[in-house]
Amino acid sequence: MRVFASDNIVTKGNFLVGTVWNAVASNGKSFYNIEMKDNGFVCSCPAFRKCKHIKMIEEKFDE
Ligand SMILES: [Zn+2]
Repeated sequence: MRVFASDNIVTKGNFLVGTVWNAVASNGKSFYNIEMKDNGFVCSCPAFRKCKHIKMIEEKFDE
């Protein structure tokens, strides 16, 4: 899976590295997993760009 570096979070050395979040897929039935890695985020959805699931997690940190 591709890793997408975060624009607003320093992931390197972050204590949340290895944490997995869930996001409901747009069909409302399945879930995607978003995981923080040392160098960014990965998501289990098929998007090839940084997806809305990762952006949703990033936005949590902006609050
Ligand atoms: Zn995704």
